[in-house]
Order: sequence, then structure tokens, then C-alpha cells
Amino acid sequence: MIKSRCIVLHRFPYSDSSWIVKALTEERGVVSFILKGGKRKDSPFRGALDPLAESEVVFRENPQKAGGDGLLFVKEASLLNWRSRMRDNLMSTAVAQVMAEIVMRYAPPGVPLQEEFLLLNKALDNLDSGAELCECNTAEGTVSAGPNSAIQPLCNVFANWLLETCDLWGFHLDLNTCYRCERALDHAAADFHPESGGLICKACLGVEAPRAKNQTVQGLWMLSQGKAVGEYQVFVENALLTYLRNHMGFLKEIHSLQWLQEIRKLCSAQAT
Ligand SMILES: [Zn+2]
Repeated sequence: MIKSRCIVLHRFPYSDSSWIVKALTEERGVVSFILKGGKRKDSPFRGALDPLAESEVVFRENPQKAGGDGLLFVKEASLLNWRSRMRDNLMSTAVAQVMAEIVMRYAPPGVPLQEEFLLLNKALDNLDSGAELCECNTAEGTVSAGPNSAIQPLCNVFANWLLETCDLWGFHLDLNTCYRCERALDHAAADFHPESGGLICKACLGVEAPRAKNQTVQGLWMLSQGKAVGEYQVFVENALLTYLRNHMGFLKEIHSLQWLQEIRKLCSAQAT
């Protein structure tokens, strides 16, 4: 038996009464649990293995690795963290779903993913606690928002998670250096080339027209300085997503991204 913390990445129905749950466990990486009778009202797992829940599970490891269906039976599950503030915020929930889907689709299978677990858990904590101290609307963006600060403004959570995930999966992105001349940047770069690997300083870009939008390089600079990316949030996130996708060499669709974009449209329509 294995006892592990886990974060539920996705859940889908299996027969009339059961669920299959994909979860990122601290001890065994991404696994699939089958919850027989999980849909019933009296299921002992009720709530504990809902999407995005952080829980402690006790499960039996699959004895027949090859040829088996890979579904693991859960013996016990107890909810550790429901994160109700994150769930009350439509945008935060949508961001959490995108992070969960990226892990589910692209994390290496069959290996322990302890750091990925800690990283995702930290990001979810930030989404849960950051709701009240978001400084997204301040022009100055003076909040310390570096990847290592304990609490980040909401607008930096997804970007910092993407940056750290790139690092973890072997595609470190250096936001402080020009990748052509390797000199340290002392202000925002002139361009960003996600496919070749980074930021380009003004001197190296020369007379070339930049391909990246000004908002993207400004936002990446704010992020590197530990400041709230604020109005540049979407530009920064899209740039980092493109970088990650380019380097992973995958074309898989991230379905929840579309949902996130819908939510953003809704929220910006409300704000104006
Ligand atoms: Zn340069």
C-alpha cells in the first residue's frame, strides 16, 4: 500500500456509478484511480477526489504492470485542501484547470514527480490566497512577485508556474540575459523568440523589426523583476505557453485553454 498526497487533475465517468480519476501523486507521479461506486451519495470518497482537490490517498500499486489497464484501486481518501477561495473565483479556477491539464498531458509518465507536485500545489495555494491581495490594477506593480516569494499576486501565478515548469522539464528560460550576446539585461528586452530560446537585447536586434509585441517583452521584464505583470498578464502567459510548446515539440491541444479565454472575455466585458 502507498500513502501519498495527490492533486486531482481530471475526473471522468466510468459506467453508471464509477469515476476514473487522474491524479498527480507526490510519491508515484501521474496515476489513474478507479473509484467504484464513486458517484453514489454514500461513497466514502465523496468530495475527496473531486477535480482540483488536494487529498491524501492510500492505494495499492498495480501488481501487473505490463498488460494491466493501469487503473489503481483507492483504499482510503481524505480531503486535505478544498481551496474554496480559488473555487469562488472563476478566473482562478480556469487557470488551475489549465495547469492541471498541462501536467496531465505532458508530464513524463511512470516516474515520480515530486517537484511537479510541490510546484502545482504552491500555485494552487497562491490562487487560493492571492485573491485578496492582487495588485493587478496598480500601474507600478511594486509587489514582490518572484517565483520564490511565498505569496504572489494572482496575475503572476500562472506565468511563474509556467516558468518553473519549463525549468523542471529541461527548458530553462533565462529572463535576465540576452540569448545572442549573453549580456545581462538591465531593462526590458527588444524581442522574444520563443522557438529559439529567448530574449534579445536592443543592440543584438539592431534594425530588425521585433516579432514580439511590446507588451510581451515588458511583461517578461516585470516577471523577471518580481513585479506584478498586471495588464501584461495575458501576453506573458501566451509567450511562455508558446515557449513551452515549442520546446516540448508537441501539438496536443490544451482544451481548458479555450475555456480560460472565454472566462477572460466575460470578465473583461464585465469590467468595462
Ligand atoms: Zn544581445
